[in-house]
Amino acid sequence: TRSLAETDPEVHAAIADELGRQRGTLEMIASENFAPTAVMEAQGSVLTNKYAEGYPGRRYYGGCENVDVIEQLAIDRVKALFGAEFANVQPHSGAQANAAAMFALLEPGDTILGLSLAHGGHLTHGMKINFSGRLYKVVPYEVSPTDFLIDMAEVERLALEHRPKLIVAGWSAYSRQLDFAEFRRIADLVGAYLMVDMAHFAGLVAAGLHPNPVPHADIVTTTTHKTLGGPRGGVIFTNSPELAKKINSSVFPGQQGGPLEHVIAGKAVAFKLAAEPAFRERQERTLAGARIIAERLLEDDVAAGGVSVVNGGTDVHLVLVDLRNSDLDGQQGEDRLHRIGITVNRNAVPFDPRPPMVSSGLRIGTPALATRGFGEAEFREVADIIATALKPGFDDELAGALRTRVQALADQHPLYPNLSINESN
Ligand code: PLP
Repeated sequence: TRSLAETDPEVHAAIADELGRQRGTLEMIASENFAPTAVMEAQGSVLTNKYAEGYPGRRYYGGCENVDVIEQLAIDRVKALFGAEFANVQPHSGAQANAAAMFALLEPGDTILGLSLAHGGHLTHGMKINFSGRLYKVVPYEVSPTDFLIDMAEVERLALEHRPKLIVAGWSAYSRQLDFAEFRRIADLVGAYLMVDMAHFAGLVAAGLHPNPVPHADIVTTTTHKTLGGPRGGVIFTNSPELAKKINSSVFPGQQGGPLEHVIAGKAVAFKLAAEPAFRERQERTLAGARIIAERLLEDDVAAGGVSVVNGGTDVHLVLVDLRNSDLDGQQGEDRLHRIGITVNRNAVPFDPRPPMVSSGLRIGTPALATRGFGEAEFREVADIIATALKPGFDDELAGALRTRVQALADQHPLYPNLSINESN
Protein backbone atom coordinates (compact mmCIF):
# COMPACT_ATOMS: atom_id res chain seq x y z
CA THR A 1 0.00 0.00 0.00
CA ARG A 2 3.01 2.31 0.22
CA SER A 3 3.32 4.70 -2.73
CA LEU A 4 6.17 4.52 -5.20
CA ALA A 5 7.59 7.72 -3.75
CA GLU A 6 7.71 6.15 -0.28
CA THR A 7 8.83 2.70 -1.38
CA ASP A 8 11.51 3.71 -3.82
CA PRO A 9 12.34 7.42 -3.90
CA GLU A 10 15.20 6.85 -6.37
CA VAL A 11 13.04 5.25 -9.05
CA HIS A 12 10.23 7.69 -8.32
CA ALA A 13 12.55 10.66 -8.73
CA ALA A 14 13.93 9.36 -12.03
CA ILE A 15 10.39 8.86 -13.39
CA ALA A 16 9.48 12.36 -12.27
CA ASP A 17 12.57 13.69 -14.01
CA GLU A 18 11.64 11.78 -17.16
CA LEU A 19 8.15 13.29 -17.14
CA GLY A 20 9.82 16.69 -16.81
CA ARG A 21 12.14 15.91 -19.72
CA GLN A 22 9.28 14.77 -21.94
CA ARG A 23 7.29 17.89 -21.06
CA GLY A 24 10.09 20.38 -21.53
CA THR A 25 11.63 19.13 -24.78
CA LEU A 26 10.37 18.39 -28.28
CA GLU A 27 10.35 14.64 -28.89
CA MET A 28 11.19 13.99 -32.54
CA ILE A 29 12.54 10.45 -32.48
CA ALA A 30 10.55 8.95 -35.35
CA SER A 31 9.82 5.67 -33.53
CA GLU A 32 8.46 7.35 -30.40
CA ASN A 33 5.08 8.69 -29.38
CA PHE A 34 3.12 9.61 -26.25
CA ALA A 35 0.70 6.91 -25.11
CA PRO A 36 -2.64 8.26 -23.90
CA THR A 37 -3.15 8.21 -20.13
CA ALA A 38 -5.97 5.66 -20.62
CA VAL A 39 -3.42 3.29 -22.18
CA MET A 40 -0.98 3.85 -19.33
CA GLU A 41 -3.79 3.29 -16.81
CA ALA A 42 -4.50 -0.12 -18.39
CA GLN A 43 -0.78 -0.93 -18.41
CA GLY A 44 -0.35 0.02 -14.78
CA SER A 45 -3.26 -2.19 -13.68
CA VAL A 46 -3.70 -5.47 -11.74
CA LEU A 47 -3.50 -7.34 -15.05
CA THR A 48 0.26 -7.45 -14.52
CA ASN A 49 -0.41 -10.14 -11.90
CA LYS A 50 -2.12 -12.63 -14.21
CA TYR A 51 -0.68 -15.69 -15.92
CA ALA A 52 -2.59 -16.53 -19.09
CA GLU A 53 -0.49 -18.88 -21.23
CA GLY A 54 -2.55 -19.90 -24.23
CA TYR A 55 -5.19 -17.90 -26.09
CA PRO A 56 -8.69 -16.61 -25.21
CA GLY A 57 -10.90 -19.61 -24.38
CA ARG A 58 -7.91 -22.00 -24.48
CA ARG A 59 -5.70 -21.13 -21.50
CA TYR A 60 -3.37 -23.24 -19.41
CA TYR A 61 -4.32 -21.33 -16.25
CA GLY A 62 -7.53 -20.79 -14.31
CA GLY A 63 -9.07 -17.40 -13.63
CA CYS A 64 -8.65 -16.09 -17.15
CA GLU A 65 -12.25 -14.97 -17.64
CA ASN A 66 -11.40 -11.27 -17.53
CA VAL A 67 -8.17 -11.34 -19.49
CA ASP A 68 -10.01 -13.39 -22.14
CA VAL A 69 -12.44 -10.49 -22.59
CA ILE A 70 -9.56 -8.04 -22.88
CA GLU A 71 -7.42 -10.04 -25.28
CA GLN A 72 -10.42 -10.81 -27.49
CA LEU A 73 -11.27 -7.09 -27.62
CA ALA A 74 -7.70 -6.33 -28.68
CA ILE A 75 -7.80 -9.02 -31.38
CA ASP A 76 -11.21 -8.02 -32.78
CA ARG A 77 -10.37 -4.32 -32.81
CA VAL A 78 -6.99 -4.66 -34.50
CA LYS A 79 -8.39 -7.05 -37.12
CA ALA A 80 -11.09 -4.51 -37.97
CA LEU A 81 -8.57 -1.64 -37.97
CA PHE A 82 -6.33 -3.26 -40.58
CA GLY A 83 -8.88 -5.45 -42.37
CA ALA A 84 -7.09 -8.68 -41.43
CA GLU A 85 -8.63 -12.13 -40.93
CA PHE A 86 -6.31 -13.03 -38.04
CA ALA A 87 -4.21 -11.23 -35.46
CA ASN A 88 -1.98 -12.35 -32.61
CA VAL A 89 -1.61 -9.51 -30.09
CA GLN A 90 0.77 -11.27 -27.70
CA PRO A 91 4.27 -10.43 -29.01
CA HIS A 92 6.05 -8.43 -26.31
CA SER A 93 7.73 -6.21 -28.90
CA GLY A 94 8.30 -5.69 -32.60
CA ALA A 95 11.44 -7.81 -32.52
CA GLN A 96 9.51 -10.66 -30.85
CA ALA A 97 6.78 -10.35 -33.48
CA ASN A 98 9.34 -10.63 -36.26
CA ALA A 99 11.09 -13.56 -34.60
CA ALA A 100 7.79 -15.42 -34.18
CA ALA A 101 6.74 -14.64 -37.77
CA MET A 102 10.04 -15.94 -39.13
CA PHE A 103 9.82 -19.05 -36.92
CA ALA A 104 6.39 -19.70 -38.41
CA LEU A 105 7.66 -19.48 -41.99
CA LEU A 106 11.27 -20.66 -41.97
CA GLU A 107 13.73 -23.31 -40.89
CA PRO A 108 17.23 -22.35 -39.76
CA GLY A 109 19.48 -22.02 -42.78
CA ASP A 110 16.70 -20.76 -45.09
CA THR A 111 17.41 -17.68 -47.17
CA ILE A 112 15.77 -14.32 -46.50
CA LEU A 113 15.92 -11.17 -48.59
CA GLY A 114 15.62 -8.00 -46.49
CA LEU A 115 16.49 -4.30 -46.66
CA SER A 116 20.04 -3.72 -45.45
CA LEU A 117 20.34 -2.06 -42.04
CA ALA A 118 22.68 0.53 -43.50
CA HIS A 119 20.00 1.47 -46.04
CA GLY A 120 17.09 1.77 -43.57
CA GLY A 121 16.17 -1.82 -42.68
CA HIS A 122 15.66 -3.09 -39.13
CA LEU A 123 18.01 -5.29 -37.09
CA THR A 124 15.49 -8.13 -37.31
CA HIS A 125 15.54 -8.05 -41.12
CA GLY A 126 18.86 -9.87 -41.24
CA MET A 127 21.54 -7.93 -39.34
CA LYS A 128 24.56 -10.16 -38.74
CA ILE A 129 24.49 -10.52 -34.95
CA ASN A 130 20.70 -10.35 -34.64
CA PHE A 131 18.81 -13.70 -34.40
CA SER A 132 17.72 -13.12 -38.00
CA GLY A 133 21.29 -12.90 -39.25
CA ARG A 134 22.44 -15.84 -37.15
CA LEU A 135 19.62 -18.27 -37.98
CA TYR A 136 19.07 -17.49 -41.64
CA LYS A 137 21.13 -16.95 -44.72
CA VAL A 138 20.66 -13.26 -45.41
CA VAL A 139 20.73 -11.56 -48.77
CA PRO A 140 20.37 -7.82 -48.27
CA TYR A 141 18.85 -5.49 -50.85
CA GLU A 142 19.66 -1.81 -50.97
CA VAL A 143 18.41 1.51 -52.26
CA SER A 144 19.52 2.74 -55.64
CA PRO A 145 22.64 4.94 -55.56
CA THR A 146 21.00 7.46 -57.89
CA ASP A 147 17.67 8.27 -56.19
CA PHE A 148 18.05 6.44 -52.85
CA LEU A 149 14.73 4.67 -53.51
CA ILE A 150 14.42 0.91 -52.97
CA ASP A 151 15.58 -0.58 -56.23
CA MET A 152 12.83 -3.06 -57.19
CA ALA A 153 14.77 -4.23 -60.23
CA GLU A 154 17.59 -5.16 -57.85
CA VAL A 155 15.14 -6.90 -55.49
CA GLU A 156 13.89 -8.96 -58.45
CA ARG A 157 17.41 -9.76 -59.64
CA LEU A 158 18.50 -10.89 -56.15
CA ALA A 159 15.30 -12.90 -55.70
CA LEU A 160 15.86 -14.75 -58.98
CA GLU A 161 19.51 -15.36 -58.16
CA HIS A 162 19.14 -16.49 -54.52
CA ARG A 163 15.60 -17.95 -54.46
CA PRO A 164 14.81 -16.78 -50.90
CA LYS A 165 12.11 -18.51 -48.87
CA LEU A 166 11.09 -15.12 -47.45
CA ILE A 167 11.18 -11.56 -48.70
CA VAL A 168 10.91 -8.91 -45.99
CA ALA A 169 9.56 -5.48 -46.89
CA GLY A 170 9.55 -2.73 -44.29
CA TRP A 171 11.91 -0.20 -42.80
CA SER A 172 13.05 1.83 -39.82
CA ALA A 173 14.55 4.73 -41.74
CA TYR A 174 13.02 5.40 -45.17
CA SER A 175 10.86 8.30 -46.23
CA ARG A 176 8.80 6.94 -49.12
CA GLN A 177 6.03 4.35 -49.50
CA LEU A 178 6.79 0.79 -50.57
CA ASP A 179 5.22 -0.87 -53.61
CA PHE A 180 3.61 -3.87 -51.89
CA ALA A 181 2.06 -5.21 -55.11
CA GLU A 182 5.48 -5.28 -56.75
CA PHE A 183 7.02 -7.07 -53.75
CA ARG A 184 4.15 -9.60 -54.03
CA ARG A 185 4.81 -10.11 -57.74
CA ILE A 186 8.50 -10.78 -57.09
CA ALA A 187 7.74 -13.13 -54.18
CA ASP A 188 5.34 -15.12 -56.38
CA LEU A 189 7.90 -15.23 -59.17
CA VAL A 190 10.30 -17.19 -56.95
CA GLY A 191 7.81 -18.94 -54.65
CA ALA A 192 8.82 -16.90 -51.60
CA TYR A 193 6.68 -15.77 -48.69
CA LEU A 194 6.23 -12.01 -48.35
CA MET A 195 6.36 -10.47 -44.89
CA VAL A 196 5.75 -6.74 -44.42
CA ASP A 197 6.97 -5.12 -41.22
CA MET A 198 4.79 -2.00 -40.98
CA ALA A 199 6.01 -1.04 -37.48
CA HIS A 200 6.85 2.52 -38.47
CA PHE A 201 3.89 3.42 -40.64
CA ALA A 202 1.09 1.33 -39.04
CA GLY A 203 -0.61 4.45 -37.66
CA LEU A 204 -0.75 5.95 -41.13
CA VAL A 205 -2.23 2.70 -42.49
CA ALA A 206 -4.84 2.60 -39.71
CA ALA A 207 -5.84 6.15 -40.60
CA GLY A 208 -6.15 5.31 -44.30
CA LEU A 209 -3.27 7.62 -45.21
CA HIS A 210 -0.84 4.94 -46.42
CA PRO A 211 -1.41 1.79 -48.52
CA ASN A 212 -2.32 -1.25 -46.43
CA PRO A 213 0.10 -4.20 -46.80
CA VAL A 214 -2.36 -6.75 -45.34
CA PRO A 215 -3.97 -7.72 -48.69
CA HIS A 216 -0.54 -8.26 -50.30
CA ALA A 217 1.57 -10.02 -47.68
CA ASP A 218 1.49 -13.54 -46.25
CA ILE A 219 2.31 -12.06 -42.86
CA VAL A 220 2.31 -8.47 -41.61
CA THR A 221 3.99 -7.49 -38.35
CA THR A 222 3.91 -4.24 -36.44
CA THR A 223 4.81 -2.53 -33.23
CA THR A 224 2.06 -0.74 -31.34
CA HIS A 225 4.06 2.17 -29.91
CA LYS A 226 5.28 4.13 -32.93
CA THR A 227 2.82 5.99 -35.20
CA LEU A 228 0.05 3.82 -33.68
CA GLY A 229 0.69 5.56 -30.36
CA GLY A 230 -0.15 2.68 -28.03
CA PRO A 231 1.85 0.74 -25.43
CA ARG A 232 5.20 -0.84 -26.34
CA GLY A 233 4.45 -4.15 -28.02
CA GLY A 234 3.93 -6.14 -31.21
CA VAL A 235 1.17 -7.69 -33.34
CA ILE A 236 1.22 -10.29 -36.13
CA PHE A 237 -1.42 -10.48 -38.89
CA THR A 238 -2.28 -12.93 -41.65
CA ASN A 239 -5.21 -13.70 -43.92
CA SER A 240 -4.19 -17.36 -44.22
CA PRO A 241 -5.88 -19.81 -41.78
CA GLU A 242 -2.95 -22.19 -42.16
CA LEU A 243 -0.38 -19.52 -41.26
CA ALA A 244 -2.62 -18.29 -38.42
CA LYS A 245 -2.20 -21.65 -36.64
CA LYS A 246 1.55 -21.60 -37.19
CA ILE A 247 1.83 -18.03 -35.90
CA ASN A 248 -0.10 -18.83 -32.72
CA SER A 249 2.10 -21.78 -31.87
CA SER A 250 5.21 -19.87 -32.87
CA VAL A 251 4.41 -17.02 -30.42
CA PHE A 252 3.31 -19.40 -27.64
CA PRO A 253 4.88 -21.82 -26.81
CA GLY A 254 7.48 -21.18 -29.52
CA GLN A 255 8.80 -17.81 -28.41
CA GLN A 256 7.08 -16.62 -25.26
CA GLY A 257 5.55 -17.81 -22.02
CA GLY A 258 2.84 -15.79 -20.32
CA PRO A 259 1.45 -12.91 -22.36
CA LEU A 260 1.62 -9.39 -20.90
CA GLU A 261 -2.11 -8.94 -20.41
CA HIS A 262 -1.66 -5.45 -18.94
CA VAL A 263 0.07 -4.43 -22.16
CA ILE A 264 -2.55 -6.23 -24.25
CA ALA A 265 -5.19 -4.17 -22.39
CA GLY A 266 -3.24 -1.05 -23.36
CA LYS A 267 -3.19 -2.30 -26.96
CA ALA A 268 -6.97 -2.82 -26.89
CA VAL A 269 -7.47 0.77 -25.74
CA ALA A 270 -5.06 2.10 -28.37
CA PHE A 271 -6.84 0.17 -31.16
CA LYS A 272 -10.18 1.63 -30.04
CA LEU A 273 -8.72 5.15 -30.21
CA ALA A 274 -7.10 4.47 -33.59
CA ALA A 275 -10.54 3.88 -35.13
CA GLU A 276 -11.77 7.35 -34.07
CA PRO A 277 -11.79 10.45 -36.31
CA ALA A 278 -9.39 12.29 -33.96
CA PHE A 279 -6.74 9.67 -34.72
CA ARG A 280 -6.95 10.25 -38.46
CA GLU A 281 -6.77 14.00 -37.92
CA ARG A 282 -3.64 13.50 -35.82
CA GLN A 283 -2.02 11.34 -38.49
CA GLU A 284 -2.80 14.06 -41.06
CA ARG A 285 -0.95 16.57 -38.87
CA THR A 286 1.89 14.05 -38.51
CA LEU A 287 2.29 13.87 -42.30
CA ALA A 288 1.89 17.61 -42.79
CA GLY A 289 4.55 18.25 -40.14
CA ALA A 290 7.08 15.98 -41.82
CA ARG A 291 6.42 17.63 -45.20
CA ILE A 292 6.85 21.11 -43.70
CA ILE A 293 10.17 20.14 -42.11
CA ALA A 294 11.46 18.57 -45.34
CA GLU A 295 10.48 21.65 -47.35
CA ARG A 296 12.20 24.03 -44.94
CA LEU A 297 15.40 21.93 -44.92
CA LEU A 298 15.46 22.00 -48.71
CA GLU A 299 15.50 25.81 -48.88
CA ASP A 300 18.56 27.61 -50.22
CA ASP A 301 19.84 29.03 -46.92
CA VAL A 302 20.07 25.47 -45.52
CA ALA A 303 21.44 23.92 -48.71
CA ALA A 304 24.24 26.50 -48.64
CA GLY A 305 25.64 24.72 -45.56
CA GLY A 306 25.64 21.33 -47.29
CA VAL A 307 22.51 20.07 -45.51
CA SER A 308 19.93 18.22 -47.59
CA VAL A 309 17.03 15.76 -47.36
CA VAL A 310 17.30 12.13 -48.51
CA ASN A 311 14.82 11.40 -51.36
CA GLY A 312 14.17 15.14 -51.66
CA GLY A 313 11.18 14.98 -49.32
CA THR A 314 8.88 12.56 -47.53
CA ASP A 315 5.57 10.69 -47.86
CA VAL A 316 5.57 9.50 -44.27
CA HIS A 317 6.07 10.67 -40.69
CA LEU A 318 9.81 11.23 -40.85
CA VAL A 319 12.51 13.17 -42.64
CA LEU A 320 16.01 11.84 -43.25
CA VAL A 321 18.47 14.70 -43.14
CA ASP A 322 21.49 14.19 -45.37
CA LEU A 323 24.70 15.64 -43.90
CA ARG A 324 27.15 13.97 -46.28
CA ASN A 325 28.12 17.35 -47.74
CA SER A 326 28.06 19.21 -44.45
CA ASP A 327 30.92 19.82 -42.00
CA LEU A 328 28.42 18.77 -39.37
CA ASP A 329 28.19 15.00 -38.87
CA GLY A 330 25.22 13.06 -37.49
CA GLN A 331 26.58 13.00 -33.95
CA GLN A 332 27.18 16.75 -33.95
CA GLY A 333 23.75 17.41 -35.46
CA GLU A 334 22.06 15.24 -32.82
CA ASP A 335 24.03 16.99 -30.04
CA ARG A 336 23.18 20.45 -31.37
CA LEU A 337 19.46 19.71 -31.45
CA HIS A 338 19.65 18.06 -28.02
CA ARG A 339 21.25 21.21 -26.66
CA ILE A 340 18.28 23.33 -27.76
CA GLY A 341 15.73 20.80 -26.44
CA ILE A 342 14.90 18.81 -29.58
CA THR A 343 15.42 15.04 -29.33
CA VAL A 344 16.26 13.17 -32.56
CA ASN A 345 18.58 10.32 -33.44
CA ARG A 346 21.52 10.32 -35.77
CA ASN A 347 21.16 7.77 -38.51
CA ALA A 348 23.32 6.43 -41.29
CA VAL A 349 22.26 7.58 -44.74
CA PRO A 350 22.67 5.08 -47.59
CA PHE A 351 26.28 4.90 -48.83
CA ASP A 352 27.32 6.83 -45.72
CA PRO A 353 31.01 7.79 -45.83
CA ARG A 354 31.18 8.27 -42.05
CA PRO A 355 31.26 5.36 -39.54
CA PRO A 356 27.87 4.24 -38.08
CA MET A 357 28.58 5.63 -34.59
CA VAL A 358 28.98 9.09 -36.09
CA SER A 359 27.01 8.81 -39.35
CA SER A 360 25.94 11.47 -41.84
CA GLY A 361 22.24 11.64 -41.16
CA LEU A 362 19.50 12.60 -38.76
CA ARG A 363 16.12 10.90 -38.53
CA ILE A 364 13.47 13.43 -37.55
CA GLY A 365 9.90 12.30 -36.87
CA THR A 366 6.66 14.13 -36.16
CA PRO A 367 4.31 11.54 -34.51
CA ALA A 368 4.96 12.55 -30.89
CA LEU A 369 4.56 16.27 -31.54
CA ALA A 370 1.36 15.65 -33.51
CA THR A 371 0.06 13.70 -30.50
CA ARG A 372 1.00 16.68 -28.37
CA GLY A 373 -1.29 18.78 -30.53
CA PHE A 374 1.13 20.43 -32.95
CA GLY A 375 -0.41 21.64 -36.21
CA GLU A 376 1.02 23.26 -39.32
CA ALA A 377 1.88 26.59 -37.64
CA GLU A 378 3.82 24.88 -34.86
CA PHE A 379 5.58 22.58 -37.31
CA ARG A 380 6.66 25.62 -39.37
CA GLU A 381 8.24 27.06 -36.24
CA VAL A 382 9.90 23.70 -35.40
CA ALA A 383 11.18 23.45 -38.98
CA ASP A 384 12.72 26.91 -38.81
CA ILE A 385 14.33 26.17 -35.44
CA ILE A 386 15.91 22.97 -36.81
CA ALA A 387 17.00 24.67 -40.03
CA THR A 388 18.61 27.51 -38.09
CA ALA A 389 20.39 25.10 -35.73
CA LEU A 390 21.87 23.05 -38.57
CA LYS A 391 23.19 26.05 -40.53
CA PRO A 392 26.73 27.35 -40.06
CA GLY A 393 27.03 30.06 -37.39
CA PHE A 394 25.59 28.11 -34.46
CA ASP A 395 26.96 29.58 -31.22
CA ASP A 396 26.01 29.93 -27.54
CA GLU A 397 23.86 32.97 -28.13
CA LEU A 398 21.90 31.35 -30.95
CA ALA A 399 21.56 28.14 -28.91
CA GLY A 400 19.97 30.15 -26.08
CA ALA A 401 17.56 31.88 -28.43
CA LEU A 402 16.53 28.61 -30.08
CA ARG A 403 16.06 26.92 -26.68
CA THR A 404 13.69 29.73 -25.74
CA ARG A 405 11.66 29.18 -28.92
CA VAL A 406 11.54 25.42 -28.17
CA GLN A 407 10.32 26.12 -24.64
CA ALA A 408 7.58 28.40 -25.96
CA LEU A 409 6.29 25.59 -28.19
CA ALA A 410 6.44 23.10 -25.32
CA ASP A 411 4.51 25.52 -23.10
CA GLN A 412 1.92 26.06 -25.82
CA HIS A 413 1.06 22.32 -25.80
CA PRO A 414 1.40 20.97 -22.26
CA LEU A 415 2.07 17.23 -22.13
CA TYR A 416 0.05 15.05 -19.73
CA PRO A 417 -1.35 18.11 -17.92
CA ASN A 418 -3.19 15.94 -15.37
CA LEU A 419 -0.29 13.67 -14.51
CA SER A 420 1.14 14.54 -11.12
CA ILE A 421 4.15 12.34 -10.42
CA ASN A 422 6.24 15.53 -10.66
CA GLU A 423 4.35 17.29 -7.91
CA SER A 424 3.98 14.34 -5.52
CA ASN A 425 7.75 14.03 -5.49
N1 PLP B 1 10.48 -3.39 -36.93
C1 PLP B 1 10.80 -2.14 -37.29
C2 PLP B 1 10.63 -1.74 -38.72
C3 PLP B 1 11.29 -1.25 -36.35
O1 PLP B 1 11.64 -0.01 -36.73
C4 PLP B 1 11.43 -1.68 -35.01
C5 PLP B 1 11.90 -0.78 -33.93
O2 PLP B 1 12.55 0.17 -34.07
C6 PLP B 1 11.11 -2.99 -34.69
C7 PLP B 1 10.63 -3.82 -35.66
C8 PLP B 1 11.37 -3.56 -33.32
O3 PLP B 1 10.50 -3.14 -32.37
P1 PLP B 1 10.87 -3.31 -30.82
O4 PLP B 1 11.85 -2.24 -30.52
O5 PLP B 1 9.54 -3.17 -30.14
O6 PLP B 1 11.44 -4.67 -30.64
